[in-house]
Amino acid sequence: MNAEPSPSRSISSHLRLTMSVCRGAWRHAARIALDIALPTLCVACREPVHGDGVCADCWAKLSFIAPPFCPRLGIPFVYDPGPGLLSMEAISDPPAYGRARAAVRYDDVARTLVHALKYQDRTDLAPAMGRWMARAGRELIGEADALIPVPLHWRRGWSRRYKLAKSARFY
Ligand SMILES: [Zn+2]
Repeated sequence: MNAEPSPSRSISSHLRLTMSVCRGAWRHAARIALDIALPTLCVACREPVHGDGVCADCWAKLSFIAPPFCPRLGIPFVYDPGPGLLSMEAISDPPAYGRARAAVRYDDVARTLVHALKYQDRTDLAPAMGRWMARAGRELIGEADALIPVPLHWRRGWSRRYKLAKSARFY
């Protein structure tokens, strides 16, 4: 048996393919026009940026925390004092917790990013900032029995326009 499609069916599939290609080209052109009319701005300095997040200048100003740092507080040392030595802050005023880590120093650019995420509806920053935090806390998370999210009151979450999943709500 010959299973050749009928001419009308072939024309129909060709028309669908052509329309799909046209739609893709139209979306691409619309995206370019939108990028020109409303360029994405750097979250920190508001200069046009290619992609999302921060521009190269602001990225260079972010101070990612890397060893050596205080094993208790996670604050960076200027020099490496040797393994296990605590910072003066951790010795003079020991915290209630065992160990803490941070991804970046809380300086101008980092503060702008955190405020954009928390107060300016820039939840699009969360995936990148979450990856930074996961990397900074990798050692602690690897040794932990559980990862417990700190609950946010629903009114505060609502005011920040966070979309809380039912499983993430705490009352
Ligand atoms: Zn910038």
